[in-house]
Amino acid sequence: MKYIDEYRDERLARALAAEISRQVTRSWVLMEICGGQTHTLMRYGIDELLPPQIELVHGPGCPVCVTALETIDKAIQLASRPEVTLVSYGDMLRVPGSHSDLFRVKAGGGDVRVVYSPVDALNVARANPERRVVFFAIGFETTAPANAMAAWQARREGLRNFSMLVSHVLVPPAIRLLLNSPGNRVQAFIAPGHVCTVMGYREYEALSREFRVPIVVGGFEPVDLLEAISMLVAQLEAGRAEVENQYVRSVCYEGNLPAQRIMQEVFEVCDRKWRGVGPIPQSGLKLRPEFAAHDAEQVFELADVATEEPAVCISAQVLQGLKKPVDCPAFARTCTPENPLGAPMVSAEGACAAYYQYRRHAVKA
Ligand code: SF4
Repeated sequence: MKYIDEYRDERLARALAAEISRQVTRSWVLMEICGGQTHTLMRYGIDELLPPQIELVHGPGCPVCVTALETIDKAIQLASRPEVTLVSYGDMLRVPGSHSDLFRVKAGGGDVRVVYSPVDALNVARANPERRVVFFAIGFETTAPANAMAAWQARREGLRNFSMLVSHVLVPPAIRLLLNSPGNRVQAFIAPGHVCTVMGYREYEALSREFRVPIVVGGFEPVDLLEAISMLVAQLEAGRAEVENQYVRSVCYEGNLPAQRIMQEVFEVCDRKWRGVGPIPQSGLKLRPEFAAHDAEQVFELADVATEEPAVCISAQVLQGLKKPVDCPAFARTCTPENPLGAPMVSAEGACAAYYQYRRHAVKA
């Protein structure tokens, strides 16, 4: 497969791992922010290829995992209404809410449909004018421009039966929270390449300067990640703290300016609660008042709901890199992808799902 194979080249990967072994003189803790990167690390055994001085911990970059429990419960509330069609990406259906999930609502007769893009969501609304169609719009900066376009298009068309339950989150405020945490052990970050494709990497410079922490924008293939780790180790060993870009084939300094413009036109920054992590100031996006007619929170006057997380789930620590999935007593016992107790076991980007899929043998006795 041209253009991908070279990033999965075993010889190149082993050479980079050997280079990292030559570079390293002491222990370092590195965090990959994105759940897609976590899955690559696990799938290709990159953590096992690295010298023992390098510890990789996994960050909060799984959009399904960090969508607040309150928001999941609101989506369940909406999907249970007879006049509502709730459209969502497939991953969200099995994420546990306080007492149920969207899959069960669907099984009980609720009109819950899986879509693959915001365009599909708009099409459902156009084709079903008698239904009140709500699109569950979640994700990081990566998905925000396309979701913004959906709201923009609905407003332009006067598509009154289309609204969005928005739960977008932003990466830099989460990194700031981790770095300010008293228990923080992370000394360098692999920033998420897809987010930076949209946003560029200017906004990471202030973080790197303020906390004296190296940040390298990384891609998603094994060679990308090994190269990003090598760049971070070079900085750490030399006492440097800069922002560098490994993912040059996709990311430029300014990012995608038209995508940023549509995001700014439709969304505004707000405080946001992250599942497992808690409230993070200025870490979310919500629809601007001009789009109130397409804001499900306002259209349906959704009230705050009381939530309940399973006591056994340690996803809060997992998402902040403080614990590994195998440290959870429920991992691969009472919590599995078939019967998930927490969101990180559901999502294709969840750290618990990655460990389950590639490291079942690592369950603690
Ligand atoms: S294994 Fe399950 S219960 Fe444990 S932290 Fe992960 S999602 Fe939560």
